[in-house]
Amino acid sequence: MSRCITCDKPVNRNKAHMTIELDGNTYLACCPMCQSEFEKDPEKYIRKSKSKHPRH
Ligand SMILES: [Zn+2]
Repeated sequence: MSRCITCDKPVNRNKAHMTIELDGNTYLACCPMCQSEFEKDPEKYIRKSKSKHPRH
């Protein structure tokens, strides 16, 4: 399961409010609020998401 890039909630890719494709990665936003948060400062959220370790 992927996570919302803004609020970090688990989101089903097929049910995400919005998907953002950047640099070969797909980012999800779960709701309109998260989308507008993301659009205010996309770089901040992308940087945050890249600093995480995707593998468990
Ligand atoms: Zn969210």
